[in-house]
Order: sequence, then C-alpha cells, then structure tokens
Amino acid sequence: MPSPAPSQLPLLDQYGRVGTDLRVSLTDRCNLRCSYCMPAEGLDWLPTPGVLTDDEVVRLITIAVERLGVEQIRFTGGEPLIRRGFAGIVTRTAALKPRPRIAVTTNGLGLDKVAPALAAAGLDRVNVSLDTIRPDTFAVITRRDRLGDVVKGLEAAAAAGLNPVKVNAVLLRGHNEDQAPELLQWCLQRGYELRFIEQMPLDAQHGWSREAMVTADEILASLKLVFDLTQHPDERGSAPAELFLVDGGPATVGVIGSVTRPFCGDCDRVRLTADGQIRNCLFAREESDLRTALRRGADDEEIADRWRAAMWNKRPGHGIDDPSFLQPARPMSAIGG
Ligand code: SAM
Ligand code: SF4
Repeated sequence: MPSPAPSQLPLLDQYGRVGTDLRVSLTDRCNLRCSYCMPAEGLDWLPTPGVLTDDEVVRLITIAVERLGVEQIRFTGGEPLIRRGFAGIVTRTAALKPRPRIAVTTNGLGLDKVAPALAAAGLDRVNVSLDTIRPDTFAVITRRDRLGDVVKGLEAAAAAGLNPVKVNAVLLRGHNEDQAPELLQWCLQRGYELRFIEQMPLDAQHGWSREAMVTADEILASLKLVFDLTQHPDERGSAPAELFLVDGGPATVGVIGSVTRPFCGDCDRVRLTADGQIRNCLFAREESDLRTALRRGADDEEIADRWRAAMWNKRPGHGIDDPSFLQPARPMSAIGG
C-alpha cells in the first residue's frame, strides 16, 4: 500500500516531484476533429450537469493556487475557446494572490475575435495547435476546412500582445511528416515559436502505433536538412521541449519527445478534467473525484487534502514502453491535452 500523502504540503509525490503546473480542461467538446485525437463523428460528450460550473472551476483553481502552491494555470480541452464563461474564468484567475501565470492551448478557431478580450482579462500566453500550413493537408487532418481561421487567430494573438505566440504541431506519417521544415520557416517568418510533439497513444479510436509514430529523431533529421540546429544553452528543467537554436538563434524550435525521450522524472504537471477529476498524469488510469466532495460541501482544506493524496500516488513514468502499458480509458480531448 502506498503511504499517505503528508498534509500541509504542496502537491508532492513519492518521487520528490512537485506539481506546480495545473492543466484545467474546460470542456471535452471541440469544433475540429483531428484524426489523431477523435473520430469524425465526435465522441459522447460529458453530460452538462456533470461539467464543473464556472464558480466550481474557479474555486478549485483558487485552492490550487492559494493552498497547494500551483504557479501556472493552462486552460485546455477539448477546445477551451468554446466555453462560454472562459474570459470570466481568466479574469478571476488573474485576480488570485499570488497571481499565477495564465496560458491557453487552443486550436485557434475564433481566437481572432476574443484575443484582445482575453489579453485584457489577464491571459499571458497562448499555444495554438497547427500541424500544417497547407489547406488541403489541414482539411484532411482536422476534417474541417478552417486553416484560414487558425491563421487569423494566430495573427490576432500576436497583435493582442500574447507573445511569444507558440505553435504546437504533431506530425503524422502519410500526411505531414515531410512538412516540418516549411512549417518552421512559416513560423520563423512570423515570430511564432514552434514545438513539435510526438504523437501519443491517447486517441479515442486507439489507432496509435509506435511504428507509425514520427519520432523526435526523425523530426530533427528532417529539420536538419534545411536548418542548422544547435542545442539551446538554457537548462531544460521541467520543460518538456528540447530546445534548439535555429541557424545560430535567437529563434528556436522545440521537440517534445513524449514517447521516445520521456521527461517524467522532471514532471511538474497535474490535471483537472472538465468534470472535476484530478489526474496526476496524462497516462494515469485512476482519477480522483473532487466534484463529489465539492458538491457535498467539503471545505477547502478537505479538497486540498484529497488533491495532495491524488498527487502522492503519481507513478514514476508513463510506461508506454512497458509491455503492460494500457492506454487510459479517457482520450486526450476528455483529459485535457
Ligand atoms: N483543442 C485544443 C488544441 O487542439 O490545441 C486543446 C486540446 S488538444 C487535446 C491539446 C494538444 O494535444 C494539441 O496540441 C493537440 O495537437 C495535441 N494532441 C491531441 N491528441 C494528441 C495525441 N494523440 N498525441 C499528441 N498530441 C496530441
Ligand atoms: Fe479538437 Fe484539439 Fe483534439 Fe484537434 S487536438 S480534435 S482541436 S481537442
């Protein structure tokens, strides 16, 4: 039996890691259908009464920041921009003391309309997911012909001062595996910081295979055909991306080898799903239910204690290479990517 989590402490686990980076999923719904994430017909969405209200989300964020030492809040989903109360949640998060850093991971649809309001509400950073700059490839991967809207969203984010704007890309064999250099060139020209992420076994359709995955080594090899890449001098710390200077810098590109170069030993993340479950890892197979405690009137300290206990049992690594590895029951879009 694992020993109990010590109380009156931050989000510590048995391996000495401390959770300071909270990913908050605001919805499991989405307006794209990326093939590596969900099927064309979508998924069985969470029933609305089960989804945390804005007040419940803000209460849990407040406990995380004020009692558990969380320093950064990243909103995600599903697609967080389709959550109606999003700007209000950002405003209330920015009012917390100490003020956390506030970021969002979004597919960029509609960002052109809300970027100024979100910046004014206190949003600091935005990561926009964009896997290709070719409209036809975009339409195949996301199953929607919306590249132009994402580009407008990126431009609006930069204009609103949400800098540096980051772009996340996943490469898929047979679709965009050969497009890494052109995507980097496009981002460099616009001042966006690009990060490639290895595809992970988190798709709802369970279609991931190690053989089909484009590895960090392959991504770097294809970039090096066009660019001179040198290891960034800064310590990687808990940041998952290995950073490289492009053609001597100062521009950079990152590669997140979640599968082949895991960073679990330095992980500082914890996740809250849209229905109020704590996940201590993307690949965790257990969740800890805070929603029930919240709705039966638990006080802040009880919730904080439940949260600490959930983190204490975080496993040392994701174990994708372990023969006993099992994909978690929930897909990425329901966990919060
Ligand atoms: N809808 C938003 C978006 O796409 O940015 C936020 C949620 S999405 C699940 C967060 C990130 O996870 C995106 O950058 C997406 O490309 C990435 N993602 C989704 N499924 C993935 C998978 N199986 N492997 C690696 N990354 C994945
Ligand atoms: Fe939606 Fe993001 Fe999943 Fe694409 S990756 S389907 S944008 S949640």
